[in-house]
Amino acid sequence: MKKRKIFIGGNWKMNLNHLEGKEFVEKLLKSIKNIEKKEIVLFPPFTTLFTVSEIIKNTGIKLGAQNTHWEDKGAFTGEISPLFLIALDCEYVIIGHSERRRYFFENDEMINKKIKKALDVNLKPVFCVGEDLEERKTGKTFEVIEKQLKKGLKDVEKLNEIVIAYEPIWAIGSGINATPVQAREVHSFIREIISKDYGKEISENLRIIYGGSVNKNNIYELLKEEEIDGVLIGGASIKLEEFVQIVNLDL
Ligand code: PEP
Repeated sequence: MKKRKIFIGGNWKMNLNHLEGKEFVEKLLKSIKNIEKKEIVLFPPFTTLFTVSEIIKNTGIKLGAQNTHWEDKGAFTGEISPLFLIALDCEYVIIGHSERRRYFFENDEMINKKIKKALDVNLKPVFCVGEDLEERKTGKTFEVIEKQLKKGLKDVEKLNEIVIAYEPIWAIGSGINATPVQAREVHSFIREIISKDYGKEISENLRIIYGGSVNKNNIYELLKEEEIDGVLIGGASIKLEEFVQIVNLDL
C-alpha cells in the first residue's frame, strides 16, 4: 500500500483534437475500473479541454491543462489565462515541461511566475524538473534538479497543492525509461530538499511522480518504489488499450 495516493497523468501533448478526444474518452470510460484508488488526470490540448471536461463530469476522472499564462487577462496574443482553465473545471496544470523549456524558451523565472499564479487561483501545478543526457553523463543531475527546484519554487508557500514530476529529458519520448533505482535516487533527493526548505511533514505528504517513457510493461516496477508516487505518461497515454491497462492495474 502506497503512503500517498497514486497519481496517473496522461499528457496528450499536441495530439487528439476535440472530436478524437471525445471518442477516446468515451471509450476509456467504458473500460476503466477501480479509479477511486488512484488519481487519474487527463491533460488534453487546450482546444480539446472543453469537450473532455463535459464528458468526464462526475466520473472521478480529473482534468488538467498542459500550460498556463501567469496573468489573468490582457494583451498576450496566443496565451491562455489560468482563469479560463478554472472555468473549464481544470484541477491541475503542467508547468515547466521540458518541451516548453526547450522549444518555447520557458525559463525558471517564467515557470516560477506560473506556479505562483496557478496556486493563487487554486490550480494545482504539476511542476516538471529533469536533467538532459549530457548533464547526467557528466554527473550534474542533482545540481540541475536542485537549481530548477529552488528557482521554480522561489517564494512559493502552498507546497501541499503541488505535484513534482521528475522527468529526465533523455527518457521523454525516447523509449528508454529511467530505471526504478535512478528514479528513486532523484525522488529521494527532491524530498530531502523539500524537507529542508519546508519541513518534514510537507515533504512527507508531497507527491513526486516520474515521467519518461512509462508504459504498461515498466510501470509496475517503477511504482513498486516507495518514493515514486505516480507517473506522467506521454506517448502511452494516447494509446487507448495501453492506457486502459495502466489505469486498471491493481497497484
Ligand atoms: C511527457 O511528455 O511528460 C512524457 C513523459 O512523455 P513520454 O511518456 O512519451 O516519454
